[in-house]
Amino acid sequence: MSAPRVTTAPKVVAVTESSPAHRSGLRAGDELLFLNGRSPRDVIEYSLLVDEPDLDLVVRRRGLTDPVSIRVQKEPGEPLGVEVSSAVFDRVRTCDNHCEFCFIHQLPKGMRRSLSLKDDDYRLSFLYGNFTTLTRFTEMDLERVLTERLSPLFVSIHATDPDTRSELLRNRRGATSLRWLGALLDGGIEVHGQVVVCPGQNNGHVLDDTLAGILDRYPTLATVACVPLGVSRFSKESAMRPHTREEAAAVCDTVDSWQQTFLTAIGRRMVFCADEYYLMAERPFPAAHTYEGFPQHENGLGMARAFEAAFGGDEHAALGVRPGFFAAVDGAPAAGYRAPRSEPATTSRRHHAPVAILTGEYGARVLAPLVGSLGRDDIRLVPVTNNFFGGNIGVSGLLTGTDLVAVLGGQPEGHRYLLPDSCLSEGRFLDDLTLADLPRPVEVVPTDGLSLRRALEAPTGPVVPGTGCATAVRAPERVPVSLGAPR
Ligand code: SF4
Repeated sequence: MSAPRVTTAPKVVAVTESSPAHRSGLRAGDELLFLNGRSPRDVIEYSLLVDEPDLDLVVRRRGLTDPVSIRVQKEPGEPLGVEVSSAVFDRVRTCDNHCEFCFIHQLPKGMRRSLSLKDDDYRLSFLYGNFTTLTRFTEMDLERVLTERLSPLFVSIHATDPDTRSELLRNRRGATSLRWLGALLDGGIEVHGQVVVCPGQNNGHVLDDTLAGILDRYPTLATVACVPLGVSRFSKESAMRPHTREEAAAVCDTVDSWQQTFLTAIGRRMVFCADEYYLMAERPFPAAHTYEGFPQHENGLGMARAFEAAFGGDEHAALGVRPGFFAAVDGAPAAGYRAPRSEPATTSRRHHAPVAILTGEYGARVLAPLVGSLGRDDIRLVPVTNNFFGGNIGVSGLLTGTDLVAVLGGQPEGHRYLLPDSCLSEGRFLDDLTLADLPRPVEVVPTDGLSLRRALEAPTGPVVPGTGCATAVRAPERVPVSLGAPR
């Protein structure tokens, strides 16, 4: 058999013991060239193909010149038992915008290459909730989304005025690509929007115009998140700067006012402010019920209120957050995108040890009253300043190993150190360090109030043996709090 002309194919990274794949002889490292004669472009097509009860596979195997044919028989719907190496096999569609606020352009040198991938791919929007600007969206994409019901999707709006939007994206197609948003909504696709608000650019009257444009042209949008831009110390864009407290307060006021307008017009608030705005403005967070079910919780909207409710014992509010800032570009298991990727490591008991909660500067402000309400003097917060990125970066999800090493090195031995899982992706921090690089054992805790409460009440958990550790790491997903880069 001559080698099929397939340049990209799903690569098997793990085969489940006793699964149909295992019984049929599939191995880690195999490349799945054809499944029932088809070569899937992405894990969406792949999932449909492997759902079939009978599968004829053509596999490229390391060390063999010719492909191998493998027949798999399984029950309809029975999982194949294979984890593949990425979500998109025919290359991620990259972004051709040049936004001044793009966080990827603000990364320091020397970070792993995959972190600098600027994707603008509706498939990653569907799979991970990545935001797409739709500047590279096509008629064929629309047809596929509508046919396969790839819903919900997440769209970067930033401004509805065509000229303003194309200036913000620094791409002339930004002026027209929101026509696809209308087509998606007309086709019944659930779409969540985002506006990265940059002071002096699209705040003030531009934000008012944008929200008016949304109500006028896209009233069936599910939600709109207003998030502040993030500015790292590596930014070279002179016009990009953090909000002042007054500017942050003005955005809160604008959103609050528009929520009332949307409530009157369509019976729901639709637009929400990121938690960071209330912290910057030094204002209380809105009441939990005003978030209408926390639909953009993972993008930092209502996270503090949900955390508070879960910490108080409300299991339904324990929503957690998606770990890692750029996790989606690193691939994912074919099944269970939000499932654990590894088992918790050995549990070590440290009864009665003082507890330190490691968190970002913003997280510390949210946690302080909650931890204080416990009345325990054996628990302390350890805010970790983000010196790695610098600028106005204060969210826990962007904590790096480098900063944790510096802080933990000055902390006493023998204490319990709790770390939110939101700063890890596949066991790695954004700077590629791992838990094993930290100078103190840490317990990784899912980033929700209920998990933290339980970790504080029961002083056990997956703890690093010795100086390093391996622990439960959740599936790669998306950004906990938007900072501009993820559109
Ligand atoms: S912010 Fe997003 S759309 Fe803009 S340049 Fe960066 S990756 Fe592209």
